[in-house]
Amino acid sequence: MVRAFGMLVVTLMAFVGSAGAQDAPSREELLKPAPNPAWNQFNAGQVDVKELYPGFYTFHAYGTRNIFMVTDEGVIVTDPVNDATAKLYLAEIRKITDKPIKYLVYSHDHWDHVEGGQIFKEEGAEIIAHENCVPSFFDTPNPKIALPDTTIAGNHTLELGGRTLELMYFGANHSDCMLIMRPDNKDYLFIVDLVTPGGSPLSIMADYYPHHMIRTLKEIERLDFKYMVGGHGVWIADRSAVTERREYLEDLMRIVKEEAGADAANPFLDITDKVKARMAEKWSYLRNFDRNIEGNIKRVESYYGIGW
Ligand SMILES: [Zn+2]
Repeated sequence: MVRAFGMLVVTLMAFVGSAGAQDAPSREELLKPAPNPAWNQFNAGQVDVKELYPGFYTFHAYGTRNIFMVTDEGVIVTDPVNDATAKLYLAEIRKITDKPIKYLVYSHDHWDHVEGGQIFKEEGAEIIAHENCVPSFFDTPNPKIALPDTTIAGNHTLELGGRTLELMYFGANHSDCMLIMRPDNKDYLFIVDLVTPGGSPLSIMADYYPHHMIRTLKEIERLDFKYMVGGHGVWIADRSAVTERREYLEDLMRIVKEEAGADAANPFLDITDKVKARMAEKWSYLRNFDRNIEGNIKRVESYYGIGW
């Protein structure tokens, strides 16, 4: 009888679990390699927190995602995003721990990820960024960005309460101060904007260095990791998301160059429609492909046309 009751409970839980999972793909589905349609099944407006392994979490709100680590001596947080999100972020952390917020790490300098840090500074956090972020914070001042207290020039490992978070710098790629983060379980990488699993690069690829993007993605592919957490989109993806983005960029650059031919160094090319048609043959399944492809092409035309 006890056994039968146990079976019933298990059956009911399985039913509830599958009913609740209709909108959100399972971890198993998300870890299938690219191209993976499950990477497009996320609610951009959803606020959620997930523990990926003990003490290592991801927080998502309104389309942007970050990570945080809870240790015995305090908390390491990343990208505050904006004032409203940072407030929600802190509230979610406070449901888990009352330990002090010790560090706030900026992934890079773009405003859609690093506004709103003041709330963590008031909690006592030391703000850390790559040193190349600082000139752009002064060039284009934004009062909603709390300036870094500490800058790093290259790779750096943050240590707190017996835990570590590696901050890895690969040079210019998407901005020139991007930090890729690797927690102490080396299976995971936190990669902001360089890769958005299942998606295409944002429109005009502002502040992208296309050839350095490809170089960086190749260097990341050489690392021994299994999963990525992105700054936008699903909470986990198989590492093949990195390869998918690198191959997209390689195709984009190759096809622009081929269509431009001997005229490549001409900033007034009109090859967008031809490149778009060829890119669509392989890549139209990517999220927001139609919205972004023309901007992506223009960016690479400019790269070959004027060397930027
Ligand atoms: Zn960015």
